[in-house]
Amino acid sequence: TESRMPAGSHAPTEVQVPAEPEAPATPSTPAPADSVPGATTGSDTAHPGAPRELNRHVAGATGSAIRNIFKLAAGPDVISFAGGTPANELFDTVGIAQSYAHVIDTIGGRALNYGSVEGEPEMKEAAAKRLSESSCATSPDQLLITSGSQQGLGLCGQTLINPGDVVLAENPTFMSALGAFKLQGAVCRGVESDEFGILPEDLEAKILEHSPKALYTIPTFQNPTGSTMPAERRTAIADVIARHSIWLIEDDPYSELRYEGEPVPAISTDPRIQDKSLLLGTLSKVLAPGLRIGWIRGPEWILERLATAKQATSLQTSTIDQMAAAHYIEHNSIPEKLLAVKDAYRQRRDTMLEVLPTVLPEGTSITRPDGGMFLWAKLPDGFDATALVEEIGPRGTVYVPGSTFFVENPDPATIRFSFVSNAPARIEEGLLRMKPVFDAAAAA
Ligand code: PMP
Repeated sequence: TESRMPAGSHAPTEVQVPAEPEAPATPSTPAPADSVPGATTGSDTAHPGAPRELNRHVAGATGSAIRNIFKLAAGPDVISFAGGTPANELFDTVGIAQSYAHVIDTIGGRALNYGSVEGEPEMKEAAAKRLSESSCATSPDQLLITSGSQQGLGLCGQTLINPGDVVLAENPTFMSALGAFKLQGAVCRGVESDEFGILPEDLEAKILEHSPKALYTIPTFQNPTGSTMPAERRTAIADVIARHSIWLIEDDPYSELRYEGEPVPAISTDPRIQDKSLLLGTLSKVLAPGLRIGWIRGPEWILERLATAKQATSLQTSTIDQMAAAHYIEHNSIPEKLLAVKDAYRQRRDTMLEVLPTVLPEGTSITRPDGGMFLWAKLPDGFDATALVEEIGPRGTVYVPGSTFFVENPDPATIRFSFVSNAPARIEEGLLRMKPVFDAAAAA
């Protein structure tokens, strides 16, 4: 597949599987919200069972290397560091139940009926308020409600991309986003990054080289590396975007999960690029991903086009879920509720940062994210994280090999660890299960 392409290759990206939920690690564990891409093979438009050929952008998706890893690790005692899955025990089940009951009791049938394509007015109000209080002043008219950010990404793909259009992204990045763009025939290209995110010079160079349709970026607590772009870098990126005809697709699911440091404004808040910025947000990481509620903030005219795509895709986001979420937001302070969750996640991050260096081979570098769900390890060159996880899986623990997140030139010696899903003692146990495999590989 494209992700195995040799360094420096310039062949166009092949179609890859779009957002595909990972197989559950155990029957009782839900599929991680952050789906990772599967390995794809060629294009299988002419399946023997198909009366006519399939769409060529979907047809390539046949299997998932990651799913195989999950199968290896299937068992009741699996400790998974693979998914960006919020911890079940940290959801406010009582508060959410109260909001659903209130909506049913007070609104009744209308909450169970069809609603608006753009989103229920109360949900748009609530999302606008949340955005205005956190990252950027927003009015409800600037928002389209989506069924999670993943649908937002899909709608951006459907609305902006024609086959062959180039989309630039951090390398590595959240591959399910690229999956959504590739489903429309996009060709994806990596932009060079350092620990502070995309390099403005390389962004400019890639814009001149590829004349891309859009830049996709996750500037805060990036998935998979955990890195955050400082304010000056954001201004420099906005500077480049302002000077070129290109859309900015800014994906911001994690910024409210900040454990230390000061918030940084979204790139989309830069006044120079208001007419070309789409900012995606979601309740998945701050309330509950099962609600499937997110939004796109953008210029009103493009929201209308996005709504056309939304209507064709899913008609609308669930009426009752939006009403319950809006009620919840109105009657609870998410930032306050998040304090306990963030305390727990910070502790989990710290446990992982403490134990990982004793488990991974000497010479490994590990990122120390100020928030979010992931940290990123770079083992010394020569280690193959995919081969190692196949040995680690049967020991009852899993991670996602970093190579699956690369747009191009994958580094086989990288690993993404999610630190949020397990309590500290389990994190330590899971990491120690891996140790003999890493020790043996280092000795080999
Ligand atoms: N963007 C990024 C960077 C993500 O990590 C995720 C989920 N892990 C999503 C989008 C999708 O989130 P959701 O659809 O649950 O809002």
